[in-house]
Amino acid sequence: MATNDTSAKPTHNEEIKAAIPTLAGSIAATIADPAADHFSEDDNQFLKFHGSYQQDDRDLRKTGKKYIMMIRGRIPGGVMTAKQWCVFDDLATQYGNNTLRITTRQSIQFHGVVKSGLRPLIAKINESLLSTLAACGDVNRNVMASPTPAYTKAREQVYADAHQVALALAPQTKAYHSIWIDGVQLDNEAAENKNFVDRLYGETYLPRKFKIGFAIPPVNDMDIFTNCLGFIAIVENDQLIGYNLCVGGGMGRSHGNEATYPRLADVIGFFTPNKVVDVAKAVLTIHRDFGDRTDRKHARLKYVIAERGVEWARNEVNQRAGITLAPAKPYKFTTTADLLGWHKATDGKWFLGLFVNMGRVKDAQKTALRQIAEKFPHLEFRLSANQNVILANASDADKAAITALLNAAAVKTENQATILHAASMACPSLPTCGLGLAESERYLPGLIDRIEKVCADLGLGREEIIIRSTGCPNGCARPYVAELAFVGKAPGRYQVWLGGDASGTRLNRIWK
Ligand code: SF4
Repeated sequence: MATNDTSAKPTHNEEIKAAIPTLAGSIAATIADPAADHFSEDDNQFLKFHGSYQQDDRDLRKTGKKYIMMIRGRIPGGVMTAKQWCVFDDLATQYGNNTLRITTRQSIQFHGVVKSGLRPLIAKINESLLSTLAACGDVNRNVMASPTPAYTKAREQVYADAHQVALALAPQTKAYHSIWIDGVQLDNEAAENKNFVDRLYGETYLPRKFKIGFAIPPVNDMDIFTNCLGFIAIVENDQLIGYNLCVGGGMGRSHGNEATYPRLADVIGFFTPNKVVDVAKAVLTIHRDFGDRTDRKHARLKYVIAERGVEWARNEVNQRAGITLAPAKPYKFTTTADLLGWHKATDGKWFLGLFVNMGRVKDAQKTALRQIAEKFPHLEFRLSANQNVILANASDADKAAITALLNAAAVKTENQATILHAASMACPSLPTCGLGLAESERYLPGLIDRIEKVCADLGLGREEIIIRSTGCPNGCARPYVAELAFVGKAPGRYQVWLGGDASGTRLNRIWK
């Protein structure tokens, strides 16, 4: 379907956004109603803009629906203070399932929260000076930025730009504060609420989600080409001289729908860092103005770029940002991997890359990280898009003490995972994700153990193979750039995709 088809009817999501442009829905009223054990379907759509999905425990479905909430933080670049880590750790224990789920977009999700825990949890995240606003929904999501402080001092400038873009693209609705901080239901019929228009998003926001990443070659540690909008930092002598702009990437597709497909972003030019917010707004508003609002499966920016072309996109960006994109600068990606173990940062401090199996911080690792956060409040906890944690800003003395603390808790700091486990990633899928068609996070580790045995028999035991799995074709763990991927079709059934590369610059193809 063409994105400019004006005869087609807007989706239901478009209608409810237009009817309640503050995105308040009746969320606060439902929270205040002790008789309501769940939110309406329309409110579930509004909740996404506030960083939450209503789910149900699918392991328990045979005995009836047990409603639970997923809550996702908005953590630009994945950088948290030790104090914020303690807050998130407490919230997971008090309101969630006692685990912290690191996401593939450098955030943290809480799973298994019941309705009564939703407001206090989100309020406490805000008290910690982080947020959940726009962590999900038809808006710009968590902005990613390469977290590893090892390659260039320009990383801090790139991170600052990512933060600046995240702030500039945050929606302005007062409903967020009203629901989660004040606990007040907005009057949706009041003129000021009914006529609210966000100054960037307009009254109906985006046709669907929007994803941004900042990468610093040679490390492509967030799969930059899978983003709607990617900034590839061009660094000379540790100085950021600008960004190569890439547009139109995305992973999601639907089984049996050939009109949906994964796509890598096109690199369309180079610009200087002072224009980064203008360029971000330009690309976001292209999605706002040209995205398909009649079919949510076809509503991503990648289809606009695929159908209208790169030259068109370049002209739109130039016009909207008031710039002239220069030819892209040369760059080269060589890896997507995190640096695990202890390494020196560019500022002379130490950092520890800590492997988190399937991104799920739990048990001894959770306890140990909590102790570290309390004892070393000057540390930064950086979340990677490979679902790992980087403890940054450690002195020589910290390094020894942190190693001792982790080792005493049986958490390894060296040789933390086998080469295949370290290069693997899975989405949560069952039992929490409502879209999961097959197991993912709970199944992949055992499958990798079996693949390792096969690799050893074939003499491939030292080869890194990037293996990813998702419970459905939406592709949250970016399976379509993996070297080997399993995409859920039905319980116990997967598509096998082969042929991505080690630097995340090539799409794979379905094999079986
Ligand atoms: Fe859920 Fe599908 Fe995303 Fe997995 S890939 S978390 S199953 S939506």
